[in-house]
Amino acid sequence: MIPTLLPTYARAPLSFVKGEGSWLIEADGRCFLDLAAGIAVTALGHAHPKLVKALSDQAEALWHTSNLYQIPQQQDLADRLTDLTFADTVFFTNSGTEACELAVKMARKYWNDKGQPEKSQILAFSGSFHGRSAAGIAAAGSEKMTKGFGPLLPGFTHLDFGDHDALNAAFDETTAAVIIEPVQGEGGIRPVPDQCLKGLRDLCDTHGVLLIFDEVQCGVARTGRLFAHEWAGVTPDIMMVAKGIGGGFPIGAVLATEEAASGMTLGTHGSTYGGNPLGCAVGCAVLDHVADPAFLADVARKGALMRQRLEGLVAEHPEVFDSVRGAGLMLGIKCRATNSDVVAAGYEELILTVPAADNVVRLLPPLTISDDEISEAIARLDAAARRVSTA
Ligand SMILES: *Cc1c(COP(=O)(O)O)cnc(C)c1O
Repeated sequence: MIPTLLPTYARAPLSFVKGEGSWLIEADGRCFLDLAAGIAVTALGHAHPKLVKALSDQAEALWHTSNLYQIPQQQDLADRLTDLTFADTVFFTNSGTEACELAVKMARKYWNDKGQPEKSQILAFSGSFHGRSAAGIAAAGSEKMTKGFGPLLPGFTHLDFGDHDALNAAFDETTAAVIIEPVQGEGGIRPVPDQCLKGLRDLCDTHGVLLIFDEVQCGVARTGRLFAHEWAGVTPDIMMVAKGIGGGFPIGAVLATEEAASGMTLGTHGSTYGGNPLGCAVGCAVLDHVADPAFLADVARKGALMRQRLEGLVAEHPEVFDSVRGAGLMLGIKCRATNSDVVAAGYEELILTVPAADNVVRLLPPLTISDDEISEAIARLDAAARRVSTA
């Protein structure tokens, strides 16, 4: 008999009842150090007082009206996001997947309205992840996500991550856009080198192609800049945001330049819940907190500290770990042992991490993690590595 929950997830036998900062309390009372943060979602940790207040104040006042009406919290968040980024305009969604849907629609509509509907092809990269909708899986293109779900949404060309020759050769008169994560998340914490993002921007400019950055996982201060692409000094035409922006409340967004968004005129897109007062009130509180240059500098500092400590851990457990990679507090340990064994051993040592592709264990702590908690994380990961190597 099928379980009453559709069995699509491989869930660990853990169930949490309360969260505070970097910590999660299991139903049995055990206290876990949370380096998963709901997969880079709870950027300010659990139950951050500012976010609790923003959400509960809004919950007492008004939950939902509709995009039939003005939503001041939505306008507020859009104004802040456009002040802080390359973007001129924002559309709010409830998730990263929905942001992907709009990014794809926006790019195609742009060329359609320019009288070049043949430009509909989107270049994407192996190892990428853009969500589980029809457009999202077609964009990522991996067999794991697409198998059995055909016919897939057409119009995506997949290139090997890091293959510059293939990328150069892939542009033609049908190319509408390129979609890329500045730091691949699900693909195994694979940062795109700054000079490659710059080169990609140049290529897009040369060929007159729109550049879409998927910053759903790497954005919102995760790497120590508000958005990861800032490190490379280039900007996209369209950007997808979600995860961290809501700090745990479901909200996503597509940010775009006025030019790239020019096809998205009255009636061309919509959402019932997208940009609702609850999500936008929380989003404003998150953004206020993380956009502070002192906060960003501290994320970068803690990222460097954690990375250095992890390098030491890798050196101590060469039979379990291979290397460390990532940016800021978006870190991955490439393993020699099986990554899921390391994650499972972490559960025994009361620390939460996330497996990713390429045999990587992801560390995505709350951006508010303290130096002491970083030390505690290293101690628990050390104990987990010992378990794996003696198993
Ligand atoms: C998680 C993720 C998505 C999908 O977001 P959902 O909120 O799960 O729909 C898209 N792109 C990237 C890079 C992600 O990490």
